[in-house]
Amino acid sequence: MSLTKLACKRVQDLTPYMSARRIGGKGHVFLNANEAPKSESYTLDSSKLNRYPECQPAEVIDAYAAYAGVTPEQVLVSRGSDEAIELLVRTFCEPGKEEILICPPTYGMYSISAETCGVGIRTVPPLADFQPDVPAILSQLEGVKVIFFCSPNNPTGTVLDREKLLTVLNATQNKAIVVVDEAYIEFCPQFSMVDLLNDYPNLVVTRTLSKGFALAGLRCGFTLANPEVIGLMLKVIAPYPIAEPVAQIAAQALSPAGLETMRKRITWLNDLKQQFKADIAGLPCVQDIFDDNGNFVLIRFTDGAKVFSAMVEQGIILRDFGNKAMLENSVRVTIGDEAEMQAVLSVLKSLA
Ligand SMILES: *Cc1c(COP(=O)(O)O)cnc(C)c1O
Repeated sequence: MSLTKLACKRVQDLTPYMSARRIGGKGHVFLNANEAPKSESYTLDSSKLNRYPECQPAEVIDAYAAYAGVTPEQVLVSRGSDEAIELLVRTFCEPGKEEILICPPTYGMYSISAETCGVGIRTVPPLADFQPDVPAILSQLEGVKVIFFCSPNNPTGTVLDREKLLTVLNATQNKAIVVVDEAYIEFCPQFSMVDLLNDYPNLVVTRTLSKGFALAGLRCGFTLANPEVIGLMLKVIAPYPIAEPVAQIAAQALSPAGLETMRKRITWLNDLKQQFKADIAGLPCVQDIFDDNGNFVLIRFTDGAKVFSAMVEQGIILRDFGNKAMLENSVRVTIGDEAEMQAVLSVLKSLA
């Protein structure tokens, strides 16, 4: 008997998320996963590794609460924000009955998490400017328990319009959870929706140390929400989600010195992003540059596939979104260091 047939039906039907790291590719310049160009160094104390770690390490929770401007009761730490996304689906959606709502093109893990949990996915395409189509969303809320917005949105860079979020929050009170995924908010902190948490108990904000904090390899993310929501998620989360070395490094990254290093990195990368945009703006192969609120820019080329393969030939790996609805010929470029951006630029110039 085939072992595959032993697996539950929905797992047999799954296609795993093709993360940048799984797709891989031969290259030496990796600008396909929105990672930071370099790591900081940290110290580790291994003297407590005989003990199980705290489920929610207080030092990390307190530091993140202070950084985000919320109370520790409003914070949950998890194994990346990907785990937070899955916890939200498992906590609020009845498999086989209830659904999540998403507005693609957006981050792929919302639908992957729903599929793995046997939860349906309602898809409401955004408007031409990539803002959510609020009337369409409000007319399709029956059976929807969690709505995922991403701001800045991966891959379009769009920041969610605050008025539109407020309309959705007001219409979903006591009915559905509204998640705003702020994975890239360090690159545009002025657009955070965290200040709405106290007025809207059904709002949830997810965060991560993977992008602005340059710690994708650490796997550490956060949920900011009403204490009641945090309490429900704590019922579902694994008993020891945060390894002791992860907690130690996260605490260092969130210390005053760590925050200062992060803010300098953000200024550096935001400046490089503006320079890169100015450098490519006039090139004949560039048709359109999308919003630039994260550490990446999505670019619509006259021929996206040609740009992507010309980059591969030079060992530069980008992320191709040309097969996604509304994103024909579009390729996402993570902002890397000076040399990496020059390498991308010179390939684009050679095509021009
Ligand atoms: C990268 C990314 C994440 C994943 O964050 P982790 O904390 O590394 O799991 C979540 N949401 C969006 C929109 C992302 O781009």
